[in-house]
Amino acid sequence: MHDFAYRQGELYCEDVPLSRIAKEIGTPFYVYSHATLVRHFRAIDSAFQHVPHIIAFAMKSNSNLAILRLMAREGSGADIVSGGELYRALKAGVPPEKIVFAGVGKNREEIRYALKSGILMFNVESSDELRAIDDVAAEMRTKARVALRVNPDVDPKTHPYISTGMKKSKFGISADRALEEFKLASSLKHIDVAGVHKHIGSQLTDITPFVDALKKILELVEQLKGRGINLRYINIGGGLGITYSDETPPEPKDLSAALSPLLRDLKCTLIMEPGRVIVGNAGALVTKVLYQKASDVKRFVIVDAAMNDLLRPSLYGAFHEIKPVRETPAAKSVTVDVVGPVCESGDFLAKDRAMPEVKAGDLLAVMSAGAYGFVMSSNYNSRPRVPEVLVKGREIHVIRQRESLADLVRGEAIPAFLKSKAGTPSAKTTKKRKQ
Ligand SMILES: *Cc1c(COP(=O)(O)O)cnc(C)c1O
Repeated sequence: MHDFAYRQGELYCEDVPLSRIAKEIGTPFYVYSHATLVRHFRAIDSAFQHVPHIIAFAMKSNSNLAILRLMAREGSGADIVSGGELYRALKAGVPPEKIVFAGVGKNREEIRYALKSGILMFNVESSDELRAIDDVAAEMRTKARVALRVNPDVDPKTHPYISTGMKKSKFGISADRALEEFKLASSLKHIDVAGVHKHIGSQLTDITPFVDALKKILELVEQLKGRGINLRYINIGGGLGITYSDETPPEPKDLSAALSPLLRDLKCTLIMEPGRVIVGNAGALVTKVLYQKASDVKRFVIVDAAMNDLLRPSLYGAFHEIKPVRETPAAKSVTVDVVGPVCESGDFLAKDRAMPEVKAGDLLAVMSAGAYGFVMSSNYNSRPRVPEVLVKGREIHVIRQRESLADLVRGEAIPAFLKSKAGTPSAKTTKKRKQ
């Protein structure tokens, strides 16, 4: 599972009490466990050790350079969705030959950058995109390796916002058009048709959709063989779920036991794109209680972290367990909304949650926040983004500093015609103030 646990009533990450980090760098902050990250990566790697495979960490779940470096040192590649992610991956030392590039809207500049960097392949989502890649590769006098992303129309039974493999999804090519698209791909001079890709959704807690989707993909692989198109890579995407409250998702070894037999005689390299399952439970967001208030019908705990720091509750109604950093065994249980300072009614971290009574100044840990946490944070309400910390044993490493007020306005400019305030009613007072 993970390395957040109570010792004598104090919540620790590995050998560091979270309260110590709060004392050193203030709140809120994200904290990740090195041991958990490594263990989660290795659990997948070893579960699939009998299948030739590449793990391409889905870095949209967490793209901090230190986390990427740690993954790369474990042997991971990266699943990227933008030129910005490619820049981060390369900077962190992820080998380009283990980078796969997904996303429905890659622009020509991003395609050029990826080809120049020598990435493993593009996961192509439409025939328009296929032609664009062919075109850019032609300009560069090279050949682009691609996998076509096929939409197997399998219901992953997860939240609609993170369900990506159904017929009405914007992602991938529908299964009934796949053969045609592969034919087109293999006719293009600057395209090397290397594989097939699918990713049906995120936070899957059942193994059946993975199996059904792979079976559909393998049928296609056979059909393609019959037409002389021999694929070298099968990319099964990511999507393995984690425990946020009481889910019991399959373990990597269960997934391997179900999928590996299907892949045995294929002589293909398996590519996987896990994100959440590696980083989700390896991280927490630590926040401080500012105030409390109660109305006739509700009781609110107001904390210093908000939807701009962790969007999942507001965006998906997602559940994150909230634990007191210091346990008070005598505390009575109360039902509260945990809300942040952002001026939106949708700004909450928990709704109608039964938890031990807290007081101002108490620290709370919002658990399972390592994936789709910091990466989705924003500066809304001009709130500086919070720091990220990596804990390794007793060591505390700040892997991203808290943003300053100056960071908030970096890159902004007041155009010349607004610089002089002459002619405005406030001109005089402004001048006066300057003297
Ligand atoms: C988001 C995404 C992933 C990772 O999903 P997780 O649920 O975090 O494992 C993998 N592949 C693609 C194409 C994605 O869009």
